[in-house]
Amino acid sequence: MEALVEAKQVKQHFTVKVKGRKLLLKAVDGVSLSIYKGETFGLVGESGCGKSTFGKALLRLYALTAGRVLFHSADISALKGAALKAFRREAQMIFQDPSSCLNPRRRIEDILTEPYAIHRRFTPVEQKRKAAELCDMVGLSKTHLSRYPHEMSGGQKQRVGIARALALNPQLIVCDEPLSALDVSIQAQVINLLEDLQREFSLTYLFISHNLCVVKHCCQRVGVMYLGRVVELAQADELYERPLHPYTRALISAIPSAEGRAGDGQRREILTGDVPSPLSPPPGCSFHTRCPAVTEICRREQPPFTEVSPAHFVGCHLYHS
Ligand code: SF4
Repeated sequence: MEALVEAKQVKQHFTVKVKGRKLLLKAVDGVSLSIYKGETFGLVGESGCGKSTFGKALLRLYALTAGRVLFHSADISALKGAALKAFRREAQMIFQDPSSCLNPRRRIEDILTEPYAIHRRFTPVEQKRKAAELCDMVGLSKTHLSRYPHEMSGGQKQRVGIARALALNPQLIVCDEPLSALDVSIQAQVINLLEDLQREFSLTYLFISHNLCVVKHCCQRVGVMYLGRVVELAQADELYERPLHPYTRALISAIPSAEGRAGDGQRREILTGDVPSPLSPPPGCSFHTRCPAVTEICRREQPPFTEVSPAHFVGCHLYHS
């Protein structure tokens, strides 16, 4: 498999002020993974674990704190100016809440022609024709072009968000919780649309979600994030059938069996406590404050992230002697 995008020890830290003190928030703290051309790579974990920040870091929406991002094997970590703008054409994002990312004062036609105007593509007449084509691609009619976002349903607005992401013919799209603001009845339609578009345009997706059922059905490989790090990564079937990391096991055991949890009668492993603050992550294994299998070494040493069976990686002392 050929990698389209590779993250190498990516770190994204932010300085925040808490009660007058400057603290370091380690939102992403050393993530390495590859996303192959044409695949849908799922990234799961509880909210606040760094999934969305990692997606934005891959798209270079931030200046990386450390590490590198390769796109087609070329380092894009330090791109600026025209080179960064050119990369933006290749890699786009679909956001969680379409209502908050569409300008309420602009008509859909203006929203869809904006990428062409920013990147100086096509004449104004051609831009309008392209906007109509984008509507058609995502299942909207040309009558929607004259509407404002507030005149559309949540599902229609998300289709506009998808159309805007497609405008510049990208190769990579980061889908950041694209279903979570939608009614359950609409979610399947949006998944089908994303899958159809992937086939038609050979798209590669990073699919960020806290919904493990959706990820199981949409993704070929899955990474599990906890407190800024990937703790397990495997083929989707392998991960759901044989989860190894205690955190993954707990997440998967919480899926109702009718929705696809592996193994009838699998014991529910209940997670206790909250995710620790990324402002003061625990030493050693960051999951040790909640782990039912914690041992002494877990409190002292961060486990290495290694391949324990073909293409199945885990960061846990249980699997390293
Ligand atoms: Fe649990 Fe230790 Fe494994 Fe961390 S390293 S997940 S604390 S067993």
